[in-house]
Amino acid sequence: MRTWIDVPADSFFPLENLPYGVFHQWGTHCCVRIGDFVVDLWALAHAGVLPLPWYLFEGDLTRFASEGPEAWRVTRERLTELLSADHPRLRDDVELRTNAVLPLEGVRLQMPVTVGDYTDFYSSREHATNVGAMFRPDAPLMPNWLHLPVAYHGRASSLVLSERDVIRPHGQTGAGAFGPTRSLDYELEVAAVIGPGNKMGEPIRIEDAEDHIFGLVLLNDWSARDIQSWEYQPLGPFLGKNFATSISPWVVPLAALEPWRCPGPPQEPVLTYLTQTGSTTFDINLEATINGTPVTRTNFRYLYWSLRQQIAHHTVNGCPLRPGDLLASGTVSGPTPESRGCLLELTRRGSEPLTLADGSLRRFLEDGDRVTLTGWAQGDGYRVGFGEVTGRIRPAR
Ligand code: MN
Repeated sequence: MRTWIDVPADSFFPLENLPYGVFHQWGTHCCVRIGDFVVDLWALAHAGVLPLPWYLFEGDLTRFASEGPEAWRVTRERLTELLSADHPRLRDDVELRTNAVLPLEGVRLQMPVTVGDYTDFYSSREHATNVGAMFRPDAPLMPNWLHLPVAYHGRASSLVLSERDVIRPHGQTGAGAFGPTRSLDYELEVAAVIGPGNKMGEPIRIEDAEDHIFGLVLLNDWSARDIQSWEYQPLGPFLGKNFATSISPWVVPLAALEPWRCPGPPQEPVLTYLTQTGSTTFDINLEATINGTPVTRTNFRYLYWSLRQQIAHHTVNGCPLRPGDLLASGTVSGPTPESRGCLLELTRRGSEPLTLADGSLRRFLEDGDRVTLTGWAQGDGYRVGFGEVTGRIRPAR
């Protein structure tokens, strides 16, 4: 699709994408991104060219997310029209264009929604098998794994936006052992931003689940493996995970990913409330680099449990999801060695170090390391991407 905005051919952000975000310049406003520009929804609404309710003036997308698919569709259609090459309204209004279409480099991005609760699943069969094999070589997958999407409740207070440095955490790593973690890791994940929630006691049916997804972001679930392995029994991850979790700033709507809808891996039989048919996931390339060296190349479609299964399971007991809640996929690993989504798997708990481009070895992350996750769907001559979520490790304090 053609737009009057100058978008490089290899951009993650063509007219087909239009992901939502929040930026600060002289105020804090909601926006969409196209090429290397942000389009200020407040400015468009103020000028009367985009019919938007008052809550979009808040500088937070949570209320808009809660409106649901029809509101998202109407807004996306109008924005696509306003930015199309043959549409003059915004293109030829120099004053409005100057106010509403701003170079990305001049603005500061902020958290797109207010995240109330954050859940992290464990939905990659390969990841669960690889990690399980290190601790239980005879039976890597726990008996429940093929019957339900396993998850833990994370912590929203330590969610941060891309670019924020991560301080190496201290913690207990054994009886009487305390200090900065010596096995700091990344986890390459994708997270769903919940739009409309559900009332307490009213589960979301699997066939309705995608209507509750405002869009997807990339997520790095920073993990301290030595702290995690000492503390996790019997109640699961705690301080080895909740010191920092980074997300990418752009919420990519499922509507933008529709051309890449595809079936997931074959599944063992599941209970009726988890039974799904058809194309339940998306073909999204995912990549992680350490200091610029690619270390993981995987794909969202490898995940065993789908987004809709995660939502159906999360709410089957009546648990209410709320707008802005974040549901992360778990580490996205795949069938090939290069598709392993964290260092724990890639280096087999540090026993087989990776060699980076500068010749240095990595068992786990070192101070000064920069981890960057990217993701994109590849089309014919264009692509729809997430941008990146990046963070640098700072020494323990
Ligand atoms: Mn995780």
